[in-house]
Amino acid sequence: ELMKREEVLRRAREEGVKFIRLQFTDILGVLKNVAIPIDQLEKALNGELMFDGSSIEGFVRIEESDMYLRPDPRTFVILPWRPRDGAVARLICDVYNPDGTPFEGDPRYALKRVLEEAAELGYTCNAGPELEFFLFHLDEKGQPTTITHDRASYFDLSPVDLGEEARREIILTLEKMGFEIEASHHEVAPGQHEIDFKYSDALDVADKIMTFKMVVRVVAQRHGLHATFMPKPLYGVNGSGMHTNLSLSRNGENAFYDPDKPLQLSEVAYYFIGGIIRHIKAITAVANPTVNSYKRLVPGYEAPVYIAWSCRNRSPLIRIPAKRGPSTRIELRSPDPSCNPYLALAAIIKAGLDGIKNKIEPPPPVDRNIYELSAEERKVLGIDCLPGSLIEALQELEKDEVIKEALGPHIYEKFMEAKLKEWHEYSIRVHPWEIETYLVRY
Ligand code: GLN
Ligand code: MG
Ligand code: MG
Ligand code: MG
Repeated sequence: ELMKREEVLRRAREEGVKFIRLQFTDILGVLKNVAIPIDQLEKALNGELMFDGSSIEGFVRIEESDMYLRPDPRTFVILPWRPRDGAVARLICDVYNPDGTPFEGDPRYALKRVLEEAAELGYTCNAGPELEFFLFHLDEKGQPTTITHDRASYFDLSPVDLGEEARREIILTLEKMGFEIEASHHEVAPGQHEIDFKYSDALDVADKIMTFKMVVRVVAQRHGLHATFMPKPLYGVNGSGMHTNLSLSRNGENAFYDPDKPLQLSEVAYYFIGGIIRHIKAITAVANPTVNSYKRLVPGYEAPVYIAWSCRNRSPLIRIPAKRGPSTRIELRSPDPSCNPYLALAAIIKAGLDGIKNKIEPPPPVDRNIYELSAEERKVLGIDCLPGSLIEALQELEKDEVIKEALGPHIYEKFMEAKLKEWHEYSIRVHPWEIETYLVRY
């Protein structure tokens, strides 16, 4: 349902829309939004609306702060939780410089550039994310806690509780906004949920991930709950991942499928895997961009630690789900939902394309449970680890020209600067564990 400018104007009129929220995403993955009254919509659709970009994280220097928002008409949707009377709609925007060129600091533009590169090679890129999140209670003052009253686990049904009610309303709301929900279930940890929506082209999916997070937060709040996409909110139980399924198509056919090849995977699929494996350490800085991300990527909680791929088991970084034919895809299991989806997809796809362009062979698949291998056995098999902390990942990013190019120099610089600061802020704090362990001992 591609929507054109005129259709947006017509639908806005028909639905009695009073306000439009113009949205875009900053480098850190935070959704930004400016509301305009309906009489400004035409101007907005012409890309004539200016905003001051100087106070947006990682955007611009003060002297070049005037930015223009150009709404993508395809992203027009009514916000179902707002009143029907005086309805509110939103449009996702691209960010432009005053001279009419795309703004280099716009994450959506970074992804578009990589998808353009894929198109030049003849490929469309599809992605399907599996977002996990926690629902926590609010305290008497309405502040979020890390308390959940639910004792349920993987695929459990529970008596109707706040979590289940909220999840139901989240799904209904997403459906009203054009999402096709494929599955939803309680996850392994108490209070943890997963909702999967249908794959789509990578740009649409990045937009949808931003919308998804907004909807989950808003609906949870209306149920007196706090939804968090923080990767590891609780010690001792699973964290939240964002498994990302990926495939390429060429002339409408799945380019990862080849019935005549071993595992029925095409050469393109192998090289794509090879590229991701080659660049995964730098990708990790982008797909797992918080200090907290690395508390999820540890053994024992179903999150990947070792760099390997397999068709058989779920412990490795890349799993090849059993489906073949048009559903042939790879599942990258490392990303977490604290990432900026535009940048994460840009980095991952760029790495895959690098694999195709340079015919990068992946290592042989590892079909054993890697967590049961000794360090010695892993060494023999040449199985390396993901970066163990944000700083390690940033150091890897610094060395990887391909992933840096996926971000572009502007975003790379701002991202690095912000993340090094984040790491520094964290590393000078004294952790409660240190007090517990050292205060008395030394
Ligand atoms: N929560 C796990 C993670 O951190 C994934 C669990 C699952 O979906 N099997 O990635
Ligand atoms: Mg899943
Ligand atoms: Mg899951
Ligand atoms: Mg999965």
